[in-house]
Amino acid sequence: MSKSIPYSHQCIEEDDIKAVVEVLRSDYLTQGPKVQEFEQHLSAYCGAKFAVSFSSGTAALHGAYFAAALGGGYEIITSPMTFLATANAALYLGARPVFVDIEADTGNISPALIEQAITKKTRAIVPVHFAGHPADLSKIAETVKKYHLIMIEDACHALGGRYLKGKIGDCRYSDMTVFSFHPVKSITTAEGGAVLTNNAGLYEKLVMFRQHGVTRNARAFLNKENYLGQWYYEMQYLGYNYRLTDIHSALGISQLRKLDRFIQKRREIAKIYSQAFVDNPCFQTPIEKDYAESAWHLYPVRLKDRYKAKKAEVFAKLRARGLGVQVHYMPVYLQPYYQQLGYKKALCPHSEDFYQREISIPIFQSMSEDDIDYVVKNVLGVFQEF
Ligand SMILES: *Cc1c(COP(=O)(O)O)cnc(C)c1O
Repeated sequence: MSKSIPYSHQCIEEDDIKAVVEVLRSDYLTQGPKVQEFEQHLSAYCGAKFAVSFSSGTAALHGAYFAAALGGGYEIITSPMTFLATANAALYLGARPVFVDIEADTGNISPALIEQAITKKTRAIVPVHFAGHPADLSKIAETVKKYHLIMIEDACHALGGRYLKGKIGDCRYSDMTVFSFHPVKSITTAEGGAVLTNNAGLYEKLVMFRQHGVTRNARAFLNKENYLGQWYYEMQYLGYNYRLTDIHSALGISQLRKLDRFIQKRREIAKIYSQAFVDNPCFQTPIEKDYAESAWHLYPVRLKDRYKAKKAEVFAKLRARGLGVQVHYMPVYLQPYYQQLGYKKALCPHSEDFYQREISIPIFQSMSEDDIDYVVKNVLGVFQEF
């Protein structure tokens, strides 16, 4: 029997399909009632005042950075152990990402190293909750406060996770939290994203940025003397069309109802793996800090020294057994585009070491018991081939 199990996969059920089809039969495919409904459910789930949906997690990051007034001459501090978009969205606005190294165990930005990276140009700190495991937000918040900065959580891995009993997305320690609803994430809208915030001013800017920088809110008009009738609107910023559609939003509403079940399943799989691989001589398993409940977006194992140089071989053997393993991530600054911008190798040694050891094995809500067994057997089996 040969299997093929991806590292992650969406879980779409009949009621999800029905919700989407209902919108297709309705009057509004986009800019209709489902968008706000999704946003209301999402903000209520997370415990934040506002949610603004976007057409992708990347667009949501762009919006959050814009709302934080990032622009030319400013810097954000983030981790290189992330998807490209975290850093790219700063470049979109002419700002510069400054990379701070990670903690070797969680793969999250090291709070102790942030302070020395702060300059006069620093505007925001952007912790990424790597693999769904929350970064140490209260520690990072101390530095944010001390230097009067903004904190934006890249929580694209972490919807459904918790930090110190609070839900990721409640923005208790941050100004904004960004989610993605790509099919590999906790819930999906196909493409989609959102920014959560408790700040009404940021909320207004996010809503405008998503739609060409336009407002129809009469109280916010800058040229009130131009107002002649109900058709009037004002463009006050250079925004984009970053809207999520009603089709996507309906899927999001339906998926959100299942989020707790999805996370519970991911947590169960992680537990099975961590028991099956306990004290493994070949690789280390991911941990959960006492302040964290991971959303287990990924299950990142790290090869021990004797296999580090053989990672490509281990990876190929896992793939040959039908495990759709992946690597998260090559540090962003090692990409050719970033190298051309002048970022140097060895900038973040822990991140580079992590990259050389890391392999993400399959974990997602629709895995069967058979799939889980298959992964365990074959991960253990691969190392017997050496
Ligand atoms: C997925 C992801 C993004 C981008 O989200 P998209 O919806 O794919 O645009 C950004 N940051 C991280 C950490 C991600 O995993």
